[in-house]
Amino acid sequence: MFSDGYLSIPEFDCICRALFRNDFGKIYGLEEERMKEVFEIFDIDGDAKLSREEFTFCWNNWIKVIVRPVSAFLIIDVQNDFISGSLSISQCSAQQNGHEVIEPINHLLDTVNFDAIFYSLDWHPSDHVSFIDNLSNRTLHDSTSVSSEEAQTYDTVIFEGPNGQPMKQRLWPRHCVQDSWGAELHKDLKVVENSIKIFKGTNPDVDSYSVFWDNKKLTQTTLVSQLEQKNATDIYVCGLAYDVCVGATAVDALSIGYRTILIDDCCRGVDLADIEKTRNTVIKNHGVIINSNQVKAMVEGRDRRAELGYKLALELKQKLNVKKED
Ligand SMILES: [Zn+2]
Repeated sequence: MFSDGYLSIPEFDCICRALFRNDFGKIYGLEEERMKEVFEIFDIDGDAKLSREEFTFCWNNWIKVIVRPVSAFLIIDVQNDFISGSLSISQCSAQQNGHEVIEPINHLLDTVNFDAIFYSLDWHPSDHVSFIDNLSNRTLHDSTSVSSEEAQTYDTVIFEGPNGQPMKQRLWPRHCVQDSWGAELHKDLKVVENSIKIFKGTNPDVDSYSVFWDNKKLTQTTLVSQLEQKNATDIYVCGLAYDVCVGATAVDALSIGYRTILIDDCCRGVDLADIEKTRNTVIKNHGVIINSNQVKAMVEGRDRRAELGYKLALELKQKLNVKKED
């Protein structure tokens, strides 16, 4: 390599084969099309070979992250109300048991050395917009198809939003009211030292499924700045409910640019069709879905997924394009 001072596409292909494999040496393989696309991202002057300078950029910003990722573990809303309280997901159409996420999550906390651990809590004021019993206190938008009198729990109505715009809102039973038992993390869930709690849904007028943003993207939680402080590259997402807050958080993590891993067996959800949709959206956006027994090797950089490498290359491409435009 570099015998002539440059790295060719076949040589880059060799590097990718060494890079994307699991801890048993199984090669995942980056499809040829994608491998070439990634090569072109790093081939900044477009001469079909990587100079030392181009390869140095690739090494520092791509290969190093793939081999030594900085991991954040996000445990979403493992709270009493979603497990056995007023919004127990066992009452929802998929009839899943939220308690089942606790054991595999605790096992990960015991055995995997994450660089940062976050617990999110749905944390609503009593007059929160998502509670069906608050419906009569608010104005529905003209475009809503269901009236205040007809609306049932789990229906979606349209409110006049905080910015005057129509705002879609699903109606839930009163849940996770600040400082109530229902809002507490379940007692069986391990809360480790030096972890960080993130409270969401605190604005009475806007709901917040994602741990990053409220549903109208009016305010960010502190998660974004905390992840930046830790230099996190990889976000492991799990908890409740799969097709609501976990899904919204994974999608936001991907759109912000994080390599995102959803831990399937540490999630339980509301609706089977929506859970499947969530999976498809995560995969379409270059996230990865795994089971908890695969986490440790990935966190330690021994199991390196091609999809996540591709995702990171796309992010670097954007950054390089911004630089070119400057
Ligand atoms: Zn809520």
